[in-house]
Amino acid sequence: MSEDSLLDHALVRLDQAASHLNIDPDVIEKLKYARETTKVRLMIRMDDGSRKSFLAWRCRYDDTRGPTKGGIRFHPESTADEVETLAFWMTFKCAVMNLPYGGGKGAVQVDPRTLSKAELERLSRAYIQAFSRIIGPDRDIPAPDVYTNSMIMGWMADEYAQMVGQAEPAVITGKPIALGGSLGRGDATARGGFYLVRHLAENLGLGQTMRVAIQGFGNAGQHIARLLAGDGHKIVAVSDSEGAVYSEAGLHVDMLFDAKAAGHSVASTAGQGGHECMPAADLAGVDCDLLVPAALENMIHIRNAASVKATLVLELANGPITPEADAILAQNNVIVLPDILANAGGVTVSYFEWVQNRQGYYWTEEEIHDKLRGIMEREGRAVWDVSRAKDVTMRTAAYVHALGRLAEAIEAHGTQNFFTS
Ligand code: NAD
Repeated sequence: MSEDSLLDHALVRLDQAASHLNIDPDVIEKLKYARETTKVRLMIRMDDGSRKSFLAWRCRYDDTRGPTKGGIRFHPESTADEVETLAFWMTFKCAVMNLPYGGGKGAVQVDPRTLSKAELERLSRAYIQAFSRIIGPDRDIPAPDVYTNSMIMGWMADEYAQMVGQAEPAVITGKPIALGGSLGRGDATARGGFYLVRHLAENLGLGQTMRVAIQGFGNAGQHIARLLAGDGHKIVAVSDSEGAVYSEAGLHVDMLFDAKAAGHSVASTAGQGGHECMPAADLAGVDCDLLVPAALENMIHIRNAASVKATLVLELANGPITPEADAILAQNNVIVLPDILANAGGVTVSYFEWVQNRQGYYWTEEEIHDKLRGIMEREGRAVWDVSRAKDVTMRTAAYVHALGRLAEAIEAHGTQNFFTS
């Protein structure tokens, strides 16, 4: 494995958590490696009649606590290392939230913006054909991730149904409502993070009105902007892959949504309503109370971590802070609400979708919000208590909390002591 392996970075968290628990070595041996990672080449017909192939993966990292669960990402820079790391995080995320799942993940190495809609549909269906023996409602349940959406999940569920000869909506989550999707899935990731911050606000010493900077303005970024602005907080800076805007007085969030809906960057609003252009790379260092990374991995690193002025970071993205940057933030007393807890609202409502598909009975949006809030508050509080009791960061506490559950499940199968005594 190379020095910069993302999985190596992720495994540092496992070791840190293990040092706070009396864990059997069997547990670490099991969680250090992905159980299975399958790589295929998807071959599809392009609109011009040519054939083109794309690398794709599906990883089932660990299934001790239940079927594996995790999104499918369409990204030109996806790699097997990234897929395994994301699946490792899913294993811990499901354990933090006490969902009856293990961790999985998938990806296709593609820039979906270069494909026509018909090509995108063929690629999505090809993914399911290739991995049909790996996925299944009791085995491995995909969901959307970066650059995949509910329409893609709908095509995938339909392809699976055609292959097995019957409707199997529980094979995939994040589907359109009309095809068995759940109410409340669209903003679940951001909403979960929002409930978490609100629940811990007093412990975190947060004021009534926070100044907020959001890195990435896709699904997670836009919904957290709407929820926080609606709760009276001021969004002072946002970025996307093409630029960033800033306003000391607070950005007009509707203007940002309109720009994105029209297919433009947030930077296109500069010059209107007091929005000023700024380099996207400077977003992490904006003067604010709450920084929300909602883009990709490793965006807060050793070179910009010391510039962070926020007192609280809500990791809606997966792995946005490198371990070196994490240490700098901790030294500077910046509290980080870690990804495996902060963005777990998405997988939690995916779980609700799977439960509704299996029981054939659907809940109202209000019921979904109530159930989500209950779980975010219960597990957020538990992680906070671990962090106080052991005097560790919220990230370490979340891993300790999850590892305790994973260890219990792994040890229930028997460990070395059991077989040799
Ligand atoms: P998305 O594709 O909807 O949005 C990603 C955003 O990041 C886009 O606005 C893009 O322009 C921006 N971006 C890319 N590179 C950037 C850069 N260099 N600087 C600033 N912005 C940049 O994806 P999403 O679903 O919102 O996911 C975002 C993150 O949240 C990912 O890490 C994903 O794994 C994580 N996440 C999402 C969900 C979910 O339910 N959507 C659930 C859990 C975790």
